[in-house]
Amino acid sequence: MGALPKKKRTRARRGNRQSSYVMKTPSVSRCHQCQNPVRPHHMCSSCGYYNGREVITKTETPTGSENN
Ligand SMILES: [Zn+2]
Repeated sequence: MGALPKKKRTRARRGNRQSSYVMKTPSVSRCHQCQNPVRPHHMCSSCGYYNGREVITKTETPTGSENN
């Protein structure tokens, strides 16, 4: 037998705890290149720029051509 809880946690306590697990709205900033909304520390998905330089060239089709 493993460790067991001593007392039952009530619905109110469970709800209080689970209320802190709510997903927060992701923080979003603007791409310096194309002004599209991008997540911080992520490459811009529309123009392929990150930190002022091009990471992925977005001239080809967006799927199936990212094996460099
Ligand atoms: Zn961009």
